Amino acid sequence: MVVITGLGENDAIDPAALPSAKARRKPRFLLESHSMSGRGIGISKLAAVALVAGGLGACAVVPETGRTQFNLISPSQERSLGQQAFVDVRRKLAASTDRNATEMVRRVGQRIADVANLPQAKWDFVLFQNAEPNAFCLPGGKVGVYSGILPITKDEAGLATVIAHEVAHAVAHHGAEQMSEQMLWQGLGTAVFSSLSQMSEGARQLLYSAYGLGTLVGRTLPHSRMQEMEADGIGLIYMARAGYDPEEAVLFWRRFAEYKKTKGGASKVDFLSTHPLDEQRIANLQKLMPKARLQYRPR
Ligand SMILES: [Zn+2]
Repeated sequence: MVVITGLGENDAIDPAALPSAKARRKPRFLLESHSMSGRGIGISKLAAVALVAGGLGACAVVPETGRTQFNLISPSQERSLGQQAFVDVRRKLAASTDRNATEMVRRVGQRIADVANLPQAKWDFVLFQNAEPNAFCLPGGKVGVYSGILPITKDEAGLATVIAHEVAHAVAHHGAEQMSEQMLWQGLGTAVFSSLSQMSEGARQLLYSAYGLGTLVGRTLPHSRMQEMEADGIGLIYMARAGYDPEEAVLFWRRFAEYKKTKGGASKVDFLSTHPLDEQRIANLQKLMPKARLQYRPR
């Protein structure tokens, strides 16, 4: 159990005040030939992270890429929090009544789950009736898709792109990495990471904003560019292994860009606002494509 002290029960997190820096190292294997430019981080902060990480024994290795990350939250703590947060989400958001679409989300999600490196996951796939174009995968394999993203995913391969990308964030513990950094920078605390009910309101808000549940707390902490590219890389491989043509990922992101151009910008918490689409993302996907194609087994 990790306990960090310093935050009062009612201290809210202001996302505008959150530092965007991410300690980063270049991932190996999947992404080895790609530069990971992103938001900057000062040397002194990096040194501080290294010192604290070393002192706390808080370095972890990202599955699939081998990157070393700063992480104060163990996988079992993460799974437990994900499970609790999912119960809360299901209480607050209505599930879709569209049987066919719900079944499609389960079918596509299960195919991605079957090839994902997420030990001890207890998978769940829920389609929520919500106009926001959004999706998430909580630790422990709790996947939520909002009906508002289906017009953009368009078909099963498009949906596989989104689910594989979100599952990749979970596999790489990106939410825990973000939370750990924020806890450190802000001296946040009184956060007992094993139980949602024992968390301060500020810590709970941080948890939700870091794990893609911005809809519930009105704020989302975007992943760093490095985490986005890492999730794209892992997601592309999972998609291919699950039998979806990885080239479809590029087509999805182009549709997504088009949608964003015409309808985006209204919400600050959805997939559109937290996933920058630019040529750097497309170029990264295309560089990774030959490796993904090698693992593509059409069904
Ligand atoms: Zn992402």
